[in-house]
Amino acid sequence: MTSREWTAARDAAAKARTISPREHWERAEPFDMGHSTECMFLPRKPHPTTGYAIIEIRGRQVEAHRPIYKELIGPIPDDLELDHLCRQRACVNPWHMEPVTHRVNALRGYGVGALAARKRECRKGHPFNPENTYIHPRGQRVCRTCQVEANRRGRRRGRA
Ligand SMILES: [Zn+2]
Ligand SMILES: [Zn+2]
Repeated sequence: MTSREWTAARDAAAKARTISPREHWERAEPFDMGHSTECMFLPRKPHPTTGYAIIEIRGRQVEAHRPIYKELIGPIPDDLELDHLCRQRACVNPWHMEPVTHRVNALRGYGVGALAARKRECRKGHPFNPENTYIHPRGQRVCRTCQVEANRRGRRRGRA
């Protein structure tokens, strides 16, 4: 075998071993982590430092959640990162992810949390819908009804 034939054979073997993001997704195992749908984990160890699931694509190790998201849901704008709403970095369930800016992703990292971000109602039970919600500059959602009530209380106190 010439060295070129050898290289070609090795590349072909590597390609045969590489499975697509969708196939990885199909091998993922569901775990109930307390969210409305299950987290999905690949049957292999996540990256030891980042905690993200890793797969191999064309001989390169990549974070699994991005290609799986692209294949199952669609393109991710270049300047956005995928935020794990479930806070399980090893989870590859693309429906647990939301493309956000790096800034939002970093801020959300400090515990405001995903599930708060996904809650459908404020603490007093007012709906988080477009009419009743505004986004605080720091990224949290604020209930307008509660905000109006708080302002009214503040004003009354001011007058007394
Ligand atoms: Zn998840
Ligand atoms: Zn409210």
